[in-house]
Amino acid sequence: MRAEVIAIGDELITGQRLDTNSQWLSEQLTDCGVDVAFHSTVGDRLADNVAVFAAAMARADIVVVTGGLGPTADDLTREALATAAGVTLVRDEASLEHIGNLFASRGRDMPERNAVQADFPEGATPIPNQHGTAPGIAMAIERTGRPPCHVFALPGVPAELKPMWHATVRPAVLAAAGVQRVIKHYCLKCFGVGESALEAMLPNLIARDREPIVGITVSDATITLRITASGADEAAALAATQPTAAIAREKLGTLVFGEEADELEDAVVRELAARGETLAVAEWATAGLVAQWLVAAAVRHAAASAFAGGVTVASHQQARNLLGAQPPDEREPDASAMSVALAEAVRECSGATIGLGIAAFPAETDTPDARLHVAIATAERTRRLRFGCASHPAIRRPRGAKQALNAVRLALLGHDGD
Ligand code: AMP
Ligand code: MG
Repeated sequence: MRAEVIAIGDELITGQRLDTNSQWLSEQLTDCGVDVAFHSTVGDRLADNVAVFAAAMARADIVVVTGGLGPTADDLTREALATAAGVTLVRDEASLEHIGNLFASRGRDMPERNAVQADFPEGATPIPNQHGTAPGIAMAIERTGRPPCHVFALPGVPAELKPMWHATVRPAVLAAAGVQRVIKHYCLKCFGVGESALEAMLPNLIARDREPIVGITVSDATITLRITASGADEAAALAATQPTAAIAREKLGTLVFGEEADELEDAVVRELAARGETLAVAEWATAGLVAQWLVAAAVRHAAASAFAGGVTVASHQQARNLLGAQPPDEREPDASAMSVALAEAVRECSGATIGLGIAAFPAETDTPDARLHVAIATAERTRRLRFGCASHPAIRRPRGAKQALNAVRLALLGHDGD
């Protein structure tokens, strides 16, 4: 069973509104064990709608359409569906009554124009809509030599679409799909190498014909390995992802920092709490981002004491005034010495067991040879690390913050820096 999701509306193709319906519907279809093969987005033009519907009816077994069911002249889904299916529109009296009642319950007369919302392609079934005037449309399109294509058209308004999906469309999709197969994803989160280097460490795992299938995506230098498997029920599908996850964990070692929704700060807070350690942060290059992430993670893990506080500085003078941090030679500022001074000073001031200092050289880090300097101070010693940070300005700061958090994570795990 292959599905297509079609989103309709000029507001979508002009970029004025994000198509969240396709995302949501695709998750729902996947949950039903149906592979989503296509997403199509089309504006409010009849000929374009007919072309998209006809293509979908030929290439997909289940088609879910959103939008274009309103009463106005730019709502063309009814007409386009009828044309693509080669049938006429027929008025449904029960739906007309429902729409009239809805207006009456709001103390208004039904505008003439709304009557078109009771028009359906011949042979279609209305999908009840408890929260709006537009009923949805369910149709089975006969195809020679293969099973029919099941089409479901729903309103674009997310608050109407979602209950209609659950009440009517989902059961119909499950019935059409026959076998009750469930698809589940399991994500491993990794940091520390580029995506191609990571892929090279997993020979055979990324092959597209493999089951479970493994996909790699990157967001601000965090790599997600998404393992997808199917099974008779949720537990079976999830269990089927685990042997592959175990292989990936073994090959990647400490590059894997967590699973599912984990971020690096979750891993750090977990390790801190498990060891009874506390972390304070002094940030020059990352402008408070590490502290912001740690605060949120400490709340998520109910481990408020793991984070002992943070300070943001933007000059040597601020470092001296706020923390009493003195780099060894101020006239020739050295970012590595500054990161050490920040780490040791913030540890001292806060009473934390670990101090993290983050600095960069040059302080404005847009040059190709820029370096991020991270220092991790404990009672025994201060580690220094250095990273390249010549990435795109948009991800420079989050990437630097992640490099610093990852350094703390590895230090907690006993993998030393320099
Ligand atoms: P329509 O059913 O085409 O009249 O759409 C009604 C409203 O639903 C639009 O004005 C949008 O605000 C919203 N909408 C339509 N399509 C989508 C979509 N694909 N994702 C999110 N919102 C949508
Ligand atoms: Mg519309």
